[in-house]
Amino acid sequence: MNVEWKKYDVLVIGSGGAGSHAAHAASNKGASVLVVSKDPLGVSDTKISEGLATVRESGSNDDSVETLSENIKMAGADLSIESLTNAFSQDSKLAYDKYRENGLRPTISLKSQTPKPLPLPLGGHTRRRTVGHNNSGIAFAHANWNAIVSKGEINYKEDCWIIDIIVDKKTVIGAVAYDAQKGIILAIQCPSVIIAAGGLSTIYFPKTDTLRGNTGDSYALAVRAGADMVDMEQIQFLPFCLTSPPSYEGLLAGEPVTASFLGVLRDKNKNIILDSVFLRTRAQCSEAIMKSVEKGNGTINGGAFLDMSANKRAPKSGPYFMEYLKTSLPSAYNNVRQALSKPASQCDELWEVRPGAHYMMGGLRVNEFGASVAGEFYGKVDLGVSGLFAAGQSMGGLFGANRLGSTSLTEGAVFGLRSGEAAAKNSIYNPLKLQSNDKFLKKISEIDNILVTKGKYSSSSIKKDIQKACWKNLGPIRDKKRLNKMRKLIELWKKKIKNIRIEDTLIWNQSFIEYIEVKNMIDTAEIMLFAAEERDGSIGGHVRIDCKNISMFSKPYSTVVNINNDKSFNVKRVYRNRTPLKRMLFYKVEEIKRLLEAKTIRFLPLSIKDKILEKKYKNIMENNDEMSSIYPGSPEAAIGEKTTL
Ligand SMILES: Cc1cc2nc3c(=O)[nH]c(=O)nc-3n(C[C@H](O)[C@H](O)[C@H](O)COP(=O)(O)OP(=O)(O)OC[C@H]3O[C@@H](n4cnc5c(N)ncnc54)[C@H](O)[C@@H]3O)c2cc1C
Repeated sequence: MNVEWKKYDVLVIGSGGAGSHAAHAASNKGASVLVVSKDPLGVSDTKISEGLATVRESGSNDDSVETLSENIKMAGADLSIESLTNAFSQDSKLAYDKYRENGLRPTISLKSQTPKPLPLPLGGHTRRRTVGHNNSGIAFAHANWNAIVSKGEINYKEDCWIIDIIVDKKTVIGAVAYDAQKGIILAIQCPSVIIAAGGLSTIYFPKTDTLRGNTGDSYALAVRAGADMVDMEQIQFLPFCLTSPPSYEGLLAGEPVTASFLGVLRDKNKNIILDSVFLRTRAQCSEAIMKSVEKGNGTINGGAFLDMSANKRAPKSGPYFMEYLKTSLPSAYNNVRQALSKPASQCDELWEVRPGAHYMMGGLRVNEFGASVAGEFYGKVDLGVSGLFAAGQSMGGLFGANRLGSTSLTEGAVFGLRSGEAAAKNSIYNPLKLQSNDKFLKKISEIDNILVTKGKYSSSSIKKDIQKACWKNLGPIRDKKRLNKMRKLIELWKKKIKNIRIEDTLIWNQSFIEYIEVKNMIDTAEIMLFAAEERDGSIGGHVRIDCKNISMFSKPYSTVVNINNDKSFNVKRVYRNRTPLKRMLFYKVEEIKRLLEAKTIRFLPLSIKDKILEKKYKNIMENNDEMSSIYPGSPEAAIGEKTTL
């Protein structure tokens, strides 16, 4: 087997929003950096995203670090770690500027001359602070690509799979990768590794991303390296995904806020199952849909109907609503227009929607610099795996039980930058002192043995079984029976993967690639199962129909899963600080007030309601006139473009 040995200060796994910012920051600190990405550079969830980014204070003067941080914590049912929510809130503007320095061109508000926020706050945000982009995630992906290639100092490898991180005495010493393009194994020696390998939605179907890559590699690599994983039961199901035709299944049909002031969710009998949808979080909408399905009231494709016709019917405010729908989240409108019908896109017909797996709130347990931690006093007393970092969807502890819309693109840049700098520092203060190559050689010999496996199962068939089973048994609705079933299936897949069919070659070996990913999917599903079994109630993205909802007055706890010496997993609870009661009650009262106001408007006679809504739309809808031209130095140009002239 052909093995190439490499030495770097920092290895970054992944080239999405998190990986590109991490690489850029580490390189700026003088570290030698290698980015390894199994997809082509910048091709990832970041690229197919809606391109909505949280930028503090972009829409409301009374926004602040504290308000944004509190919004995240409250939506996350107090599972979020405050040092992380504070870091996110504090750096959100700076992170957005970094995207702009690397080429992102925002839409600028003609009124304020600052990046233009959407007209309404996304569900759970109490301020307008979500900035949209005309060409969605593509704009972000190009900025990410630029962040890696522009300086010419960052080395990168595409079509290259990290197989495992190599650790000695709880300290990172490198990683082993499969370079499919060249048909070789890479042994990369380095004191710092940043995991920015994205999420796990591919272990489910339906899911919102159309990429093959989200096979949970982040979590499997981290747990096998000995790191603590936090809140791994908390997967977010995006409530409004298309259910048909098959080629559109799982694609986004909007956010809760898409429903605007009068949108409701209905079951198959047209009974309302959730009102004031625009004020709800993603978790609340998904829960309402899946509980209705569980009661036997689901639509033909196992979902519910999003009914926005009342918005449209109001004669004066209706045209404003249609303008809002078409321009605020254009991809929802366009997907529905293409997938369903013109009358549906005009809201004359109901939209059949169903939750789809979207985002993992859990992940590697880190401190505010993205460093792996274990124990209560993270970062100081109980460091986790030394030299191991995570950023973006790989990390946990920031969003707790529910992620607010538009926060992930920002999260990638905030923690990418922080972890990149911290990893570079780690390489300076803790340079690699290798006694021997034994740990690497052991892993390489394991790979050699796998390549001669001539079993009877194909990885791709196991992959399909995993997707179906995870949706059914580890999906938005869970109970003990389903979790027990899941455990049996995981044991079965573990046996099957030992009896797998793999080609004996290293040149673009698809069966080997599938093997690497399916193994990661199984490990990730198992970590999630341990966490889900420990969570004895419904909270956030996790609905246990055989247990009560977890009360907001009880002591919040996170689940933490790690690996034992015999490679089995272990789970424990870590208790969190609850938001002080007075503050929580204040927050809840404000939420109830907003819901009451929305309900009252719905029940007013049409003429009065119409007038009120017309006024509201006039207040929130900005003139959509475009700036006449964009050129380096103009407000819509990227910041980097300004500095080069
Ligand atoms: C349809 C859709 C719309 C969305 N819209 C929004 C939005 O508008 N706003 C928002 O904030 N969020 C949005 N999100 C979520 C957001 O896009 C993602 O959470 C975010 O982009 C994740 O960034 P990341 O850098 O952590 O991972 P990714 O961008 O997914 O990058 C992962 C990288 O890791 C690499 N990788 C994975 N495993 C390995 C391995 N074993 N070896 C080597 N490389 C590996 C991949 O090749 C890739 O380069 C959306 C998500 C989807 C699916």
